[in-house]
Amino acid sequence: MIEIEIHDQSCRGCQLCVDICPTKVFEYDAAQAKAVIRHAEDCIACLSCAYLCPSGALTHGNYHVVKNFYRDLDFSQKMEKFL
Ligand code: SF4
Ligand code: SF4
Repeated sequence: MIEIEIHDQSCRGCQLCVDICPTKVFEYDAAQAKAVIRHAEDCIACLSCAYLCPSGALTHGNYHVVKNFYRDLDFSQKMEKFL
């Protein structure tokens, strides 16, 4: 399963990851003023949150094993000749 990590010391609570995630993996914890991971199992590894986070606080591991989305390697290889 994908491993998502929020590096607590880096997170500034801007909530950009909460807003951008298409599958609602994150929630905002007002008490801590930080984002928290609620549904890691729903992550489709689009990596939008990691690119967007202004603090570089998000990292993902094992994202090659999540559900096929546009990262289907066999399909991508078949399509290469058209690109
Ligand atoms: S985008 Fe980054 S800094 Fe902003 S709430 Fe999410 S993890 Fe924290
Ligand atoms: S990689 Fe995409 S789906 Fe996964 S937590 Fe980040 S924004 Fe959500």
